[in-house]
Amino acid sequence: MARVRHDEGPPEREASEREPSDPLTTVVSAEDRDDDAPGIRPQTLATYIGQTALKRKLGVFVEAARQREEALDHTLLHGPPGLGKTTMAFILANEMGVKCHLTSGPAIEHKGVLAGHLTALAAGDVLFIDEIHRLTPTVEESLYSAMEDGRIDLPVGEGSRARTMPFALAPFTLIGATTRTALLSAPLRERFQIVEGIDFYSDDELAEIVLRTSKLLGMPATKAGAKEIGHRSRGTPRIANRLTRRVRDFAQVQGRTQIDREDAAAALVELGVDHKGLDAIDRKILLAIVDAFDGGPVGIEALAATLSEPRDTLEDVYEPFLLQRGFLVRTPRGRQVTARALAHLGRTSKPKDARVPKDQGELDL
Ligand code: ADP
Repeated sequence: MARVRHDEGPPEREASEREPSDPLTTVVSAEDRDDDAPGIRPQTLATYIGQTALKRKLGVFVEAARQREEALDHTLLHGPPGLGKTTMAFILANEMGVKCHLTSGPAIEHKGVLAGHLTALAAGDVLFIDEIHRLTPTVEESLYSAMEDGRIDLPVGEGSRARTMPFALAPFTLIGATTRTALLSAPLRERFQIVEGIDFYSDDELAEIVLRTSKLLGMPATKAGAKEIGHRSRGTPRIANRLTRRVRDFAQVQGRTQIDREDAAAALVELGVDHKGLDAIDRKILLAIVDAFDGGPVGIEALAATLSEPRDTLEDVYEPFLLQRGFLVRTPRGRQVTARALAHLGRTSKPKDARVPKDQGELDL
């Protein structure tokens, strides 16, 4: 790969020296994806909480690429929504000292839009494509030659004189994010040299995120308060941050200067989040399986129809946490609630067979 010239990039300072608010990244999509107050989204590997093994590996890949003065290899990040894929893409660009251009699969409507993004990249820049599994097949095909050969075919001329001309791109890094790698076509998946998953966070890691966020929001949580919120955040930083903001509202209106455990617990009850972190929709899903399908097994389509929720939302947003916490299992015949779910819902009837099957793989039921 050709050498990356850092002189086109941001100021030559070490990542660790930068202020967290350094405008090192640009967003080129119409939507601004920072759903936090400024400063809350971590900007460096050091401030990205948890995911120790992932951070160590990516830190090595960044360091190695920097030493070779090359662009970082194309990277695919997968995991449920809100776990920090976008944040990590920005951090990787930041640590490489390059800009991050952000877009998403559905926003790249045709090859021309992709060409626009790719030709705007300076040497070494990151192009982050969220929901990369939602690219159309023709856009995806153009991406292959960009990723592999650093070239894209641009249309020139009109009518009978129309043809395409190969255009050499500056070396760049594609970072793709997807909720499940199984949604990606094999040829696209194979073109990423780095493929990493982001897992749900532990309660302690989430408590650490709550401590940091609450401090930045000007209403610090006590350790016990942070633990209470973290424990109920479905293993997900985005939810931890969202709950922290809402709990802060309750604490503020009650004239508190900090969030303690009782404040957090009382506010979370008001917000409909129970002591296991399940929200109203989680409970609705479990109850639908219990009441309408006798505990399951039930196919995902039937469940989605009963709940009037899109299948994708159930599979990507709700199910992973319910599976991970053992409230739900996937059997070859469909989804089934577990004894733990029944106990949590206060139901006494026993599920027929809620043992976790040996193969919980990617069943599309
Ligand atoms: P995804 O792209 O996976 O949907 P995001 O990267 O948008 O998730 O993360 C959601 C929010 O959670 C971010 O705005 C960020 O503030 C916070 N966040 C994510 N991961 C971490 C982390 N490891 N440490 C601290 N905050 C995090």
